[in-house]
Order: sequence, then C-alpha cells, then structure tokens
Amino acid sequence: MTTAEELSERYPEVLYPGDLKDVPPGWLDIVDRYFAVVSPLMKDSGYEVVTAAELAGGLDWMWTSPLSAMTAERHRVVDREDVLLELRSYHTCSTCGRPGVGWTTGKTIVTRCEEHSGGERVVDGKPLMRRTPHGVVRYDVAADQLVDVDAEDV
Ligand SMILES: [Zn+2]
Repeated sequence: MTTAEELSERYPEVLYPGDLKDVPPGWLDIVDRYFAVVSPLMKDSGYEVVTAAELAGGLDWMWTSPLSAMTAERHRVVDREDVLLELRSYHTCSTCGRPGVGWTTGKTIVTRCEEHSGGERVVDGKPLMRRTPHGVVRYDVAADQLVDVDAEDV
C-alpha cells in the first residue's frame, strides 16, 4: 500500500510532510487518486491541507488556498474531487483499502471490509448524496464516479 511519506514525495507542490499523518493507511490510495487530479491543477496555487483525518467513518478533508489563486476552473474540478474523495472513503476499508461498509461499536462508526470489521453493520439503504455549488451528486460505487442527481429527487 502507498504510504504517507510516498505521497508527500509524489505531490510536493500540495503536501507538506506530516499533512497525512492522521489519515488511516487504507485511505491513502484514494488520497493518491485525488492528488493525481488535484495536484497538477493546484500547483503554485498555495494549496494547503488543513484537516485530513477520520471522522465518523469518513475522511474529513479540508484545505485552503489564497482566494486570488482560485479560478472558476479550479473550483469546478477541485470541489468535485473533494466530494468524490469523501464519498469514496465511506466505501473503502480504512485499514486495508479494500471495499468497505459502515460498522458501529457503541458511539464509534468506522468503514471497514468484512475482515477488519467489528461491531454491528450499519444498514443504510439510501445512497450518500452531497450538495455542491454545481448541483447535487451521489457516488456510484460500481462506476467509481459521481453522478448528478436531479434536485427534485433529493
Ligand atoms: Zn480491510
């Protein structure tokens, strides 16, 4: 599996050493896929990771950059990649990176595969959706991409 150190070396324009220290190992591959798109686009923009940690079964991801560096194109692409990264985390085992689902123990929720699971399976029939500045989207697990949702169906 990819390590946080490898990612810091691969994407020096957008990552400082230590930025990914709180990201569970199983999610580093989805972070890698995020930066494969975001890093070339945000190079020289002052992009800085603010928060990158597990929160209630998902990857809590926040970044900042000087407003002057943000173009409409950068917003359009990165806003979507942010949502894709977060929704992918809810479907990826945070321990090993294989497909995962939600499990709960007491008040803790984690996203894990069968092998790394513990506690009770979280049963939630509704697909996760996110409202973005460019409309509502949901994550299509099989296609591994975001799908636009008709606002009237939300
Ligand atoms: Zn696992």
